[in-house]
Amino acid sequence: MIQQKKLGNSGLTVSEVGFGGIPVTRLSPEEAVRLVRHAFSLGFTFFDTANLYGDSEAKLGRALEPIREQVVIASKTRARDAETAARHLAQSLDTLRTGYLDLYQLHNISEPDALDKIMAPGGAWEVILEAREEGKIKAVGFSSHNPDTAVAACATGRFSTVQFAFNFVEHDSYEKVFAAARERGMGMLAMKPLGGGLLGRADLCFGFLQQHPEVVPIPGLQALAEAEEIAELYENKRPLSDEDWQAIEAVRSELGTRFCHRCEYCMPCEQEVAIPYAMLFKSQRLRFPPEMVEKMSGQAMATVENCIACGQCEEKCPYDLPIPEMLRDYYDQYQRFVAESG
Ligand code: SF4
Ligand code: SF4
Repeated sequence: MIQQKKLGNSGLTVSEVGFGGIPVTRLSPEEAVRLVRHAFSLGFTFFDTANLYGDSEAKLGRALEPIREQVVIASKTRARDAETAARHLAQSLDTLRTGYLDLYQLHNISEPDALDKIMAPGGAWEVILEAREEGKIKAVGFSSHNPDTAVAACATGRFSTVQFAFNFVEHDSYEKVFAAARERGMGMLAMKPLGGGLLGRADLCFGFLQQHPEVVPIPGLQALAEAEEIAELYENKRPLSDEDWQAIEAVRSELGTRFCHRCEYCMPCEQEVAIPYAMLFKSQRLRFPPEMVEKMSGQAMATVENCIACGQCEEKCPYDLPIPEMLRDYYDQYQRFVAESG
């Protein structure tokens, strides 16, 4: 069985690896119930979703209702103002078929003014405080893709958890974001432990993450075999061998120049190209059903047509990505994907 552990000072006890709720959107409701219950039988007790993830909350809600008291449910709201936050929270409680959320996270606090908006009078924080007093939320966290904004959010001392991308390719967060969280005893959650589906070998991904046991990874799951493989990797932890490290280095150098970390430092673009969102297409394609991929990527991909290859974004990208070239490549891939999916 997967072990349970305390999630920082949040007051929550969770499985040492969680269940990410995005890929269940690709499954039928019956398949999703089967997967969630099977994962629970393997020791997964921590389920993370968001109101933005299609029908993920509905599917998890249905699967978790009979075992509600034995699991930890985390969801998120992208709201910045109180009115929207109140609506989102009520919807999530309803859709997840529960009277309370163990963890409610402010979703993607990445833009520099996000915290100001949330904490301002009439901001989402008012709803969070009230809901916590009423027992509708036990702990409050946030997720982010921007290291600076995430560190600033940790520094407010108001959040119990932080969720940030962390895997053997995206590991800068460990020194910066997770260090800020550790100072305050916050729970640390790793989104995209498998690089959003781009890093193939689960044994390498989790072998790497197991060296940082204070961080709880939340891989997105869509198959019984995936849940079993991960459970097995946590039951029989082993240190990475020299060959493993060589394989990791090979993947790092292959992806190093082509991996968008979604930090948004390249923004804004004067031509209004939604760079980080267009860059998401590749991993969205691996994780979401085709109709959702079109819905999520279509708008961002349309903005790529405005790119005049001025190169200003490249100068701002800390990872030296060849952005205009990548955008053109993803745009072409997206057009082929739309033509093929019909
Ligand atoms: S190269 Fe394209 S995406 Fe980058 S800043 Fe210029 S117009 Fe925007
Ligand atoms: S393109 Fe570069 S700067 Fe822009 S989000 Fe990706 S990694 Fe960050």
